[in-house]
Amino acid sequence: MSATLVDSPVTCTIDLMAPGRQVGRLQLPKITNTGGWASSFVPIACFANGDGPTVLISGGNHGDEYEGQIAALRLIQELELEDVTGRIVVIPVISMDASKANTRMWPSGANFNRSFPGRPDGPPNEQLADYLTRVLFPLADTVIDMHSGGRTAWFLPCSHMHVVDEPTQRKGMLEGMQAWNSDWHFLYIDVNGTGLLPVEAEEQGKIVITTELGGGGRVPAPVHQLAWSGLTNVLRHQGVLAGEVQTRASLGLPEAAILDGRDPANYVICEEDGIFEGLIEPGVTVAAGEPVARLWFPTTPEREPTVLRAPLDGVLACIRSIPATEAGDGAFTLGQPIRPDQLLA
Ligand SMILES: [Zn+2]
Repeated sequence: MSATLVDSPVTCTIDLMAPGRQVGRLQLPKITNTGGWASSFVPIACFANGDGPTVLISGGNHGDEYEGQIAALRLIQELELEDVTGRIVVIPVISMDASKANTRMWPSGANFNRSFPGRPDGPPNEQLADYLTRVLFPLADTVIDMHSGGRTAWFLPCSHMHVVDEPTQRKGMLEGMQAWNSDWHFLYIDVNGTGLLPVEAEEQGKIVITTELGGGGRVPAPVHQLAWSGLTNVLRHQGVLAGEVQTRASLGLPEAAILDGRDPANYVICEEDGIFEGLIEPGVTVAAGEPVARLWFPTTPEREPTVLRAPLDGVLACIRSIPATEAGDGAFTLGQPIRPDQLLA
């Protein structure tokens, strides 16, 4: 497998097959009002040392989710080549222009996480997705894609996963998710369309480990610490980084809670424009019918606020963090506690 595809407009300035530490970039065509024959740069690093698994790490799939971007940038700074057995490929900030603009989407309006599998003759987001699909995923045994709630939501800082059908892959993904050692984990479904990066990697049979590391437009120091400790422990767990694998038990922590978000009723949206007020915090257990949030109506102050209630029994996993709300915006997400052995039965 070469890192160059003859029919792709994306090129890589480093040789991903070569041993050693390399930092370079992916280049794809950029056409703007300031440059016609120009390129967009997406930094990439590769640490390869001896025989072992390949892990692909990405941050900034969504531009305003900085927790994983910083952990990946720190990894490029601090990773010692002699501690690597195999290969670690890092794309710290996939969506460079969106990261710079503090937006979820690319300036073109594209959602990179709905761009897969991509195509070489598509728009730039699909060109880049196609390069990941046909060059980077086939190299990898494990794919780690780090997300958070971005500006729009605060998600319990956690690692999360799709419950894939193939038993060996499901077990590997469950164990990889647990190796993040977060207090919470979440089982998600695609409620908003297809074309996700993790789904493409899963369909290629990879162990895919993803996160929702908080959000809300600010990164508290403990979340940075969790992003870093989780990422490095997962690398040890996958066998590509030297050092003892830590567990919740070895850290003196109680077992993590896994929240099952596979029932679509868990994803609650706002029905009208208004101002959003959360009434409880993520991590709190609610019964069906209990109030979770209110929507206020500034243009009709005589009208009572609408109370948004829990549709099911569960734990609040995620809540809207931007008060200004349009009809159809996400309000909150619940999940129901599930034991790990129930996922392997
Ligand atoms: Zn995201």
